[in-house]
Amino acid sequence: MEIIRTVAWMKEYARAARAEGLVLGLVPTMGALHDGHTALVARAKKECSRVIASVFVNPKQFGPKEDYNKYPRDIEKDAEKLGAAGVDALFAPEATDIYPDGFRTYVNVEGISERLEGRSRPGHFRGVSTVVLKLFEIVQPHFAYFGRKDAQQVRIISEMVRDFNLDTEIVVCPVVREPDGLALSSRNAYLSGEERAAATVLARALVAAKDELAAGMRDVLQLQDVLRRVIEAETLASLDYAEIVSADTFEPVVRVSRACYAVLAVFVGKTRLIDNLYIEPKAQGADEFTFRL
Ligand code: AMP
Repeated sequence: MEIIRTVAWMKEYARAARAEGLVLGLVPTMGALHDGHTALVARAKKECSRVIASVFVNPKQFGPKEDYNKYPRDIEKDAEKLGAAGVDALFAPEATDIYPDGFRTYVNVEGISERLEGRSRPGHFRGVSTVVLKLFEIVQPHFAYFGRKDAQQVRIISEMVRDFNLDTEIVVCPVVREPDGLALSSRNAYLSGEERAAATVLARALVAAKDELAAGMRDVLQLQDVLRRVIEAETLASLDYAEIVSADTFEPVVRVSRACYAVLAVFVGKTRLIDNLYIEPKAQGADEFTFRL
């Protein structure tokens, strides 16, 4: 596996690969890699002849009081995992190369970026869409792989791709979970033993909502109550938001009658975790749904 440390080198590598007729897949990450990330790589390996993973802890997507400085970083271990997963090139640039002095151009996908994660983390999605656009410009991948764990993020990126006529196809991959339901996340490393046990509360709340949906509950206020009650029963957890939103716009809905997400953000101790349940009609207009946790 080639380890590429500069933007100029990455552009040259990608240009040469495209000229050879290879199909480029990009897996953007912030490192501290786990099986959720390697699942994205595995999918990219199936569909592309050249797989590039990026590891970049993007300063522009962290708020001033967030965990940018303490975010887990271990590039050697990450490189080992990516090499073992069959990645062809690891792009690990310096922040000063991505954002040189004088950098002042940002992308903002309006509306959807201000809701939910965007409301709790002002400026977060502006940082995400800006860095993803830069990565897409540098690598110009045919395909880029994202996890449904960050459902709002991948929706925003898909809108940016459409609005800017980008030639990258977004591939959304399922959420990888621990056996007890906790979605894998680099931030799980912050949890103490007790908090780790309590952190299953997100998946437990989503399963409770799913069970009510399966039993016929469609009213969103009632469903949100179900989510809230499970979270409130966990003493180490405090709720940031629990909503049911349109899968398309991430705007609130009143009744579940089309594709929706149940989305959760919960503090477990000081660690903020997110998770979601995808609710999809079995057929267009049908009142029966399938659920993806
Ligand atoms: P991150 O390193 O947290 O920025 O995540 C990089 C990519 O991995 C994003 O597309 C995430 O949605 C995805 N990802 C993170 N955790 C998971 C997970 N548990 N399952 C699937 N994809 C994930």
